[in-house]
Amino acid sequence: MAQFSLKTNLNQAAEDANGGASEPFSVNAFPEFGASITLPRVLDRRKTGEKMLQGIPVSQGVSRSQVVVLDRTRIDPAKSGILESELAGEEDRLQASLAETRRQILAMQERLREAMGTEEAQIFEAHLLVLEDPMLLKEVSQFIRENLVTAEFAFHEASEKYAEALGKVDDAYLSERAADIRDVTQRVLANLMSQPPCTGLADLTEPCIVVAHDLTPSDTAMLDPTKVLGFITEVGSRTSHTAILARSLRIPAVLGLGEAISELHTGQSVLLDGFNGFVVIDPSKQMLFEYGQLVERQTSIEESLEVIHDDAAETRDGHRIILSSNIERAADVESVLQSGATGVGLFRTEFLFINRRDLPNEEEQFAAYRHVTESLAPDPVIIRTLDLGGDKLLSHVNVAAEMNPFLGWRAIRLCLEEKDLFRTQLRAILRASAYGNLKIMYPMVSGVEELEAANVLLDECREQLRAEDVAFADAVEIGVMIETPSAAMIADSLAKRVQFFSIGTNDLIQYTLAVDRLNEKIAHLYEPTHPGILRLIKATVDAGQAHGIWTGVCGEMAGDVAAVPLLLGLGVTELSVTPSMVPRVKMLIRSIEMSQARELAEFALDSDSPKEILARAEALAKAAVPSFFEELTG
Ligand code: PEP
Ligand code: MG
Repeated sequence: MAQFSLKTNLNQAAEDANGGASEPFSVNAFPEFGASITLPRVLDRRKTGEKMLQGIPVSQGVSRSQVVVLDRTRIDPAKSGILESELAGEEDRLQASLAETRRQILAMQERLREAMGTEEAQIFEAHLLVLEDPMLLKEVSQFIRENLVTAEFAFHEASEKYAEALGKVDDAYLSERAADIRDVTQRVLANLMSQPPCTGLADLTEPCIVVAHDLTPSDTAMLDPTKVLGFITEVGSRTSHTAILARSLRIPAVLGLGEAISELHTGQSVLLDGFNGFVVIDPSKQMLFEYGQLVERQTSIEESLEVIHDDAAETRDGHRIILSSNIERAADVESVLQSGATGVGLFRTEFLFINRRDLPNEEEQFAAYRHVTESLAPDPVIIRTLDLGGDKLLSHVNVAAEMNPFLGWRAIRLCLEEKDLFRTQLRAILRASAYGNLKIMYPMVSGVEELEAANVLLDECREQLRAEDVAFADAVEIGVMIETPSAAMIADSLAKRVQFFSIGTNDLIQYTLAVDRLNEKIAHLYEPTHPGILRLIKATVDAGQAHGIWTGVCGEMAGDVAAVPLLLGLGVTELSVTPSMVPRVKMLIRSIEMSQARELAEFALDSDSPKEILARAEALAKAAVPSFFEELTG
């Protein structure tokens, strides 16, 4: 993690309390969400007069830095005339701003290349091409001369004409060029008019806390943790993929701040508390000191967990659980190895596909899947086939906007129609299976037919590879995610056809309770301990057991320490969580007895009240590992 070391940060906070310099800092001791009760608490300091805003804590840790508000308001220059004698000067101004824009884009590209690598930096190639487009530039110069107007007005008119024409063409590549032209135009206009350009993530040069209406998962996947020490958004909730990525990148984040976001302005100094969801404007020295203490305590807990790194995730009465990790990128294997997890329980492969201009081909995908599988062998690696759609969209494929994207053309539904895309991925996965213990898992399955159709394509790929004499493992296990209520209810039919289940609670909860996982307004209704959810989990486990297959959980519920005993008590035998959460979940498992977990599950299956179940689950977790629940008494 490219943030200041924990020690430095703590010293900093203490130093600040004594009147020291105020450097930005970020500490992400426990970068995982959980029910708020599982978080270290801080006293509500609103009474001290500091302005404190409250949102939804989605990625733990504490940061303090200057705010940068992302501004996506577009510059729209008014028509303004010039004299004929000013023509030459106007042309010079145009050329100078083009040169300056080019310099700025090259600098951004370099920053991105350093932080994220060549692939991501290539996104700016198309922007540079716009600046050199002879047709566009000729048209702008002509427009200035013929209409005697300013360069900014001419540039805006000419480029908008181009962008509109391209946007209408039914071709994904060309319509993407329209977006490039509009982006570059804004930069040129900002330079011509000496205005700050609308601030995007690529413009960040100094460490800061980003404030935005929203960040998409693709935006978040591109965040450079050395620049973005934390982020705050107006909308969004705990199990959005933006929140999941924040935890994976270990960037503290508070989402769903609502209208209070208007209190935040570029340049303000804020403290972001990703444990409790507080955003403190101009924090006092006393508050910084208290947070320093909180972080210190959490850090020492984290250090103490190092001792169980190589131990099994086994309950005190000898029940062993497979504790694995969720990853989004092939490079995440490093964090998996460091975490003490047993392999990967969910590789969200769609992140290989977003933020790029083209689709990854078979070779590129093969290399990624092989790297993960080989690095973690003989531990298992479960590769989930593409789950595009919902809040994860390809930037270069023009998919019509949907009214309800999470109920729409997503995951297995999309793959079964885009067969070439799917076959390419299946071939790459099969080839990687020759290098370790790889398993395949299909997302968003809602009925047996989808599973069978996917398996037909998989068999076709096996045939092709055999014919081409390409190696792959003979017996790759196939599983389905149980993340639609229908899948849970027909789990017995599915269990006959697969070797494992992995419950995707993020979606299962949103679909069962009809609570949009992205919507902060109904976040309080998103209740993992709802009896409806627990009964579906139990039905899935029972159906699996009846057919001799195991059931895991890879949704965020698996990383919520209060929910872990409940899941084990319901019969789940595998948990897959973000790497940074592995030590805490392992410690909790090692601190309870399966008999306690089963008693809790029995109670829960009999209860009508999500809150009552949550309270009992929390009490058990708290009794097992009190230090995870320590309150800050300031
Ligand atoms: C889930 O739905 O719980 C899951 C793990 O998949 P995703 O979060 O990627 O939708
Ligand atoms: Mg899901």
